[in-house]
Amino acid sequence: MSETAAQTSDVPGAATAGHGNDAAAAGESDVIAASVRGLTKRFGARAVLDQLDLDIKAGEFVALIGRSGSGKSTLLRALAGLDHDVSGELAVTEPVAVAFQEPRLVPWKRVLDNVTLGLRDASPRQVAVAALEEVGLAERVSAWPLTLSGGEAQRVSLARALVRRPALLLLDEPFSALDALTRISMHRLVLGLWQRHKPAVLLVTHDVDEALALADRVLVLGDGRIAHSSAIDLARPRDRDHPALTALRLRLLSELGVPAAESAS
Ligand code: ADP
Ligand code: MG
Repeated sequence: MSETAAQTSDVPGAATAGHGNDAAAAGESDVIAASVRGLTKRFGARAVLDQLDLDIKAGEFVALIGRSGSGKSTLLRALAGLDHDVSGELAVTEPVAVAFQEPRLVPWKRVLDNVTLGLRDASPRQVAVAALEEVGLAERVSAWPLTLSGGEAQRVSLARALVRRPALLLLDEPFSALDALTRISMHRLVLGLWQRHKPAVLLVTHDVDEALALADRVLVLGDGRIAHSSAIDLARPRDRDHPALTALRLRLLSELGVPAAESAS
């Protein structure tokens, strides 16, 4: 792995009406939602994050991929303020909200009460109902978590993040336990929420196609740093067979060390 700064590449957009242009027009692009400099996290002698630098712009949708154990969750936890045993500089724009792979709902609280849990708002119930409506769960406000499907539980988890009105939304493999069809509807939901509310998003995923479908920028974590960064300026929804995405898919897989046996160059 190179010891230089992150390699970057841009995928030229076929469409000109993508989100990137909207963001530029709105003048959002210079505002930073998260800034990390020289972030280092050690477990014993091992530096899982090693002088990592990262900037996420306000309203930017960033996907982070990396091999299992590469430190993705460790980085997310540091950004979420859940780990203070790190060195380096970390600045994030509050509020920050997190959703994990497991929805982490409290089983003895109904859906609505899970969403309002710990929420400081003048009218928490109203805000929670609105968020549950947004994620398509208006009829389940009084349901018990154990009666929900995996996709529904994950939507409650998103609603719980949403009511915090995050400037930075951290998602740690939130869809990886869901079946393929549910995952696709969750992709649509997340894109819709992001387009309406415009938080910066850092989505950790091990699914390269998920990253390509959703993100403005895909980062690869390797050797404790951002080893690669590719911008994707294509309008959504994206055609997964778009030539630019096909090329980038191969590139990212090779960055991940997945042998692309027959792929030339
Ligand atoms: P990822 O999310 O990319 O799969 P993690 O951030 O969870 O990886 O973990 C990165 C590395 O740090 C792994 O090798 C993991 O075993 C190690 N690690 C994570 N948490 C701890 C811990 N509490 N104690 C010791 N090692 C840990
Ligand atoms: Mg992880």
